[in-house]
Amino acid sequence: MPPDVVYDYSKCTGNGQCVQVCPVQILELTADKRWCKAIDGYVDNKEAAEAFHSQVEGKKDAVPIKIHNSMSACLGCAACVAACPEGAINILPEFPEGQSAVEQVK
Ligand code: SF4
Ligand code: SF4
Repeated sequence: MPPDVVYDYSKCTGNGQCVQVCPVQILELTADKRWCKAIDGYVDNKEAAEAFHSQVEGKKDAVPIKIHNSMSACLGCAACVAACPEGAINILPEFPEGQSAVEQVK
């Protein structure tokens, strides 16, 4: 199973540092530059990822969420985790292939 790539949008400031260090270039900023995200084409369940991003993109008062993504291209190297000054990205060991999920930040 691929790693579980988790973005916490209650912490992410959109500074882009994780995007710059990813050795396989599978991260980008959202169009409104507020958060980082997986590039949709690299998420195993592309439709789910796009639906989740539509919950926050361009919405100033978006409810804070965590987005979990299954990404087969992710090396699990955690370079993005080390680069993030906000502790907003995490790589967990396993996530079922082809799935994505949203978790409300408490
Ligand atoms: S763990 Fe490594 S390969 Fe995966 S998204 Fe982060 S920097 Fe990229
Ligand atoms: S490095 Fe952290 S704060 Fe900056 S865009 Fe990535 S997850 Fe967000």
